[in-house]
Amino acid sequence: MRRKIVAGNWKMNKNVIDAQQLMAELKDYKNNTTTNCEVWIAPPSIYLMMAKDLYENDEVGVFSQDMSEHESGAYTGEISAGMLESIEATGSIIGHSERRQYHGETDSHCNKKVKLALEHGLIPIYCNGETLEQRKSGQHLDVVKNQTEVALFTLSAEEIKKVVIAYEPVWAIGTGETATPEQAQEIHAHIRQLIAGKYGQEVADEVSILYGGSVKPDNAVEIFSQPDIDGGLIGGAALNKNDFAKIIEAFN
Ligand code: PEP
Repeated sequence: MRRKIVAGNWKMNKNVIDAQQLMAELKDYKNNTTTNCEVWIAPPSIYLMMAKDLYENDEVGVFSQDMSEHESGAYTGEISAGMLESIEATGSIIGHSERRQYHGETDSHCNKKVKLALEHGLIPIYCNGETLEQRKSGQHLDVVKNQTEVALFTLSAEEIKKVVIAYEPVWAIGTGETATPEQAQEIHAHIRQLIAGKYGQEVADEVSILYGGSVKPDNAVEIFSQPDIDGGLIGGAALNKNDFAKIIEAFN
């Protein structure tokens, strides 16, 4: 059975009071609701410890939005996999398109980060997806193939089963534009086939693949009902408890 997951990427939003409030609302929600999926959040790293302290029963998984490709050392501003492990974080988002766009992150960087995360017992949420130009010129399947192969295909079968992939078409992130359920399903099935080709169908059937890109309460049910879509990585709509809860309830 593949894990069903709704993960919220808070990006660079919320001061400490607002972050604390949303975390508490989610704790209350989780403790009073039976959800049919796992609920994860990726708050800004300055709030990770606070989240870990609050979710003492791991009712909400706690992720960083990025981590360093290096073990430790003179890398100002970075946080390491070892640090995340030491606070018992659940994992880290890796390769988000905003990291690629603004910080020059490539799939070779992602490959190093994914491996390091796994070595430290963290779940990597590896993000990939094509730009608008790449989709318009019909390159989307090849782009995603290349991203997946470079970032993930040096892993063993046991390792790749622990990775969560988030397909996030760049043109749909924060734009209000969503891939149609069919467009998303096509790429998710494509990624699963690539994994099956390399590692076998049994392994491919265990890898959770999330969709990200303007998922909202009113489109979540349709998107999550696609056979190869195992949940969502949610940006804007994860900043509000009621919207996030409605997306979680798309699995009910
Ligand atoms: C994201 O940043 O991962 C994302 C999917 O953002 P949004 O839901 O706002 O498009």
